[in-house]
Amino acid sequence: MLDELKSIEKDGLATLEKVASEADLQAWRTKHLGRNSAVMQAFKNLGALGKDERPAAGQAANQVKVALEGALAKRETALKAGRVAQSLETEQVDVTLPGRRVPLGRLHPVTQTMREIRRIFAEMGFQVYRSRDVETDVYNFQLLNFPPNHPAREMQDSFYVEGGSDENPLLLRTHTSPGQIHAMREAVARDPDNPSPVRIILPGMCYRYEQITARSEIQFTQVEGLAVGKRITFGDLKGTLSDFARRFFNPDVRTRFRASHFPFTEPSAEMDVECFVCGGEGCPVCKQTGWLEILGSGMVHPNVLRNGGYDPEVYSGFAFGMGPERLTMLRYRIEDIRYFWRNDLRFLEQF
Ligand SMILES: [Zn+2]
Repeated sequence: MLDELKSIEKDGLATLEKVASEADLQAWRTKHLGRNSAVMQAFKNLGALGKDERPAAGQAANQVKVALEGALAKRETALKAGRVAQSLETEQVDVTLPGRRVPLGRLHPVTQTMREIRRIFAEMGFQVYRSRDVETDVYNFQLLNFPPNHPAREMQDSFYVEGGSDENPLLLRTHTSPGQIHAMREAVARDPDNPSPVRIILPGMCYRYEQITARSEIQFTQVEGLAVGKRITFGDLKGTLSDFARRFFNPDVRTRFRASHFPFTEPSAEMDVECFVCGGEGCPVCKQTGWLEILGSGMVHPNVLRNGGYDPEVYSGFAFGMGPERLTMLRYRIEDIRYFWRNDLRFLEQF
């Protein structure tokens, strides 16, 4: 029995020397240490031995098993180390290869225009005022002097949302103008006897329930402006907006004001800039007129001032509104407003 155990150990260690792969190692483990291996059989056969032989044989069998297990662990470690060394050899990093460029995002062209508008008006002392996208009918229309049957109030022009009442439904704002009322009322609430002047721009998203075409979208941005104080005149309006046009387009651009009509201003005017494509000569972009319309404006209507809490006998103001999409389209000669929402990288990566 003891001789047999010696030869089991010798045989096991000899074949382990030749094991060179993970699979061979597993096979060796089954053959030499598994349930049916010679050493395990030796344990089973102990019972057949005489009482005085049994302890020595049991001890010897155990020593063989421990020796084989120890050798297996060593061999396993050696194989692993060999693999690591091999992979370091074959998978070298070529440090001279150029790095992979991480794709960088960029600002949407309309966002760029918005930021530029904000920067220019900030230099002129206008602060940014933000207000909610969901408005009540009262703020979106009534307080801004929209007559009850004004076409803009028709169902097809507004996205109504749940939660309002029949008399005062909730809707997605159709323009940023409701912010004018919020801003004026806040200034009056701070100091009712002597409200501070207001000089703000109101940038934000607007929504209209319209057919989507190359020229109109159902959501778009607007930048509104409002100045309220004592002795503010139409001359201030013209000066501020002409200065804006010179800073935004070019220092020599000419502007002109044409009479227009908006419910919340009186008098009202649209401002044109000289066509920067043809320099005023006439071209397809300006439809041969030499001028491009860029914004609407006017003196704040007395009713709107009153609704904001300012006495129109004492205070006056001007307001204006422009569309960053339109300005961006004019500047880069983009012919279809739908590109802005299409998320086509070929379009977006040009800016
Ligand atoms: Zn032109």
